[in-house]
Amino acid sequence: MPYRAPVPEITFCLDHVVGYSRVTETERFADATPETVSALLTEAGRICEEVLAPLNRAGDLHPAKLENGVVRTSPGFADGYRAIAEAGFAAITADPAYGGLGLPQTVATAVNEMMGSACLSLELNPLMTQGQIEALEHHASDEIKALYLPKLTSGEWCGTMNLTEPQAGSDVGALKTKAEPNGDGTYAITGQKIYISWGDNDFTENVCHLVLARLPDGKPGTKGISLFLVPKRIPEADGTPGVANSLKVVSLEHKLGLHGSPTCVMQYDGATGWLVGEPHGGIAAMFTMMNNARLGVGVHGLSIAEAATQHALAYAADRVQGRSPIENGTGTILDHADVRRMLTGMKAETFAVRALALDLAVSIDLANATGDRAMAARAAFLTPICKAYGTDTGISVADTGIQVHGGMGFIEETGAAQFYRDGRVAAIYEGTNGIQAMDLTGRKMMDGGAAAFALIDEIEAEAKAAGARGELLAATAAELRAATERMVALDLNDRFAGAVPYQHAFALTLGGLYHLRAALAEGEGSRTRLAQSFMARQMAAVPGLLAEAGLGAADLYALSAEDLVA
Ligand SMILES: Cc1cc2nc3c(=O)[nH]c(=O)nc-3n(C[C@H](O)[C@H](O)[C@H](O)COP(=O)(O)OP(=O)(O)OC[C@H]3O[C@@H](n4cnc5c(N)ncnc54)[C@H](O)[C@@H]3O)c2cc1C
Repeated sequence: MPYRAPVPEITFCLDHVVGYSRVTETERFADATPETVSALLTEAGRICEEVLAPLNRAGDLHPAKLENGVVRTSPGFADGYRAIAEAGFAAITADPAYGGLGLPQTVATAVNEMMGSACLSLELNPLMTQGQIEALEHHASDEIKALYLPKLTSGEWCGTMNLTEPQAGSDVGALKTKAEPNGDGTYAITGQKIYISWGDNDFTENVCHLVLARLPDGKPGTKGISLFLVPKRIPEADGTPGVANSLKVVSLEHKLGLHGSPTCVMQYDGATGWLVGEPHGGIAAMFTMMNNARLGVGVHGLSIAEAATQHALAYAADRVQGRSPIENGTGTILDHADVRRMLTGMKAETFAVRALALDLAVSIDLANATGDRAMAARAAFLTPICKAYGTDTGISVADTGIQVHGGMGFIEETGAAQFYRDGRVAAIYEGTNGIQAMDLTGRKMMDGGAAAFALIDEIEAEAKAAGARGELLAATAAELRAATERMVALDLNDRFAGAVPYQHAFALTLGGLYHLRAALAEGEGSRTRLAQSFMARQMAAVPGLLAEAGLGAADLYALSAEDLVA
């Protein structure tokens, strides 16, 4: 079933659910008018439907390969990348002074959603470059910016992020890669990085790696880590890619899905690198890229959920089984109550995830454009929720999509299984969803819960203002408030024991808010019916999740490690 870019749905969300007009009202983004955005989204939708979506299956069937040390990408990916680069999709938010489009993150988020639905494995490439551009804009020297940013924004070069090592996954502070000063302002980078997405390709002139490494006087742990820009080819002063740097792709991983994205083991053997940001300030600098990527990976879940839902709806509308239990039905499996339950849930959760991602993006834009600290705190609090709920939903919706297909869901030709396989990693990379939940209930609650309570205030106020239509949401928000009060009173490990269900409950309550806004904007109609279904079914899980969130860790440790392993 061909992918259809949901531009009208995204536009509805921007106009009626997440208040995008507030972004256009700022001086910085005054040019990003609804008309400009609409034209860009329409063109992006066309490219995704016509150029990128046809590559999705080819990427799955013909994974990237390593041949004589060179990565050969999947058939058609070079053309797809060229279309992305020419449209400027790696540089939507980048500074126009360096060739970027200077548009809000909200617009990039909408475009990323469509690219990811069309071909997730290829979209990961421009997503990494978007994050690298932002990190360099914030932390690199003027010389580095002048040399690298025009090449990255044009798409001639692309970017990667290198954190992970065999012994340093979630625990980035355990990394061993070394950086020795060369005495000429550059550094010699030595070490191995694993799982590096798009660590190489055969369609850009250069690949620029942002690498975390430790200087000789760097302390153990995260405080002693610095960030370096390490290009595959060392650029000449005029920007031509020069001699090869001392780095190579050792091997590619064989994966469950996302086959079109080369996941590389990288070896750096005294490779020349340039410091980005302050010595020992690497984690702070890398966080610019990681926060960008956390939103971007949350959107991976949305992309998968949208594509899987479109697929399942098309299949259900065609598949005939059994007698229709309703009058004037379609005669297809769409008429069966359980199939309706699955499809309605897929649509309702996909809507909630889209609204959450765009809401977060609007908060980021407003914080950047106005310097409003409360808005920045709102964005920081929403980031782990978006990453985790987005990706968990992508997986669960794709899983349900397989179920809707029956046996055909297990057969690769339908494409339903590929969505599940491609989307599965999103809950793992860019910080596992467990790590996101710990960030939410740990670091993001170091303010005593202020950011959490501010969001709950917002939900309660809107729910109460909606009268009878908001009653269920108001009651859920009150439960979330009580659970948050309990959560901030717990010690850290007890919080962490309940962090994942708490994060999920918060996301579902926000989903209720977005659905309510959509219903109110519409008056009466299908959005209202979808909102009622989400609140009655998906949001109904919140009390159970919150009960689990408050249990603490005692029962988990009561079962000893020996009990588990025996
Ligand atoms: C396809 C793919 C692409 C990737 N791309 C990149 C990339 O481009 N760049 C890059 O740097 N990395 C990349 N990664 C690496 C990815 O970010 C890591 O796999 C991820 O951070 C988890 O690390 P790990 O695999 O070592 O798991 P581990 O850290 O070993 O985690 C195993 C389990 O333990 C849990 N856990 C670990 N520590 C804690 C803790 N303190 N408290 C509670 N639970 C904990 C985790 O949540 C997880 O469930 C990629 C990975 C994959 C699979």
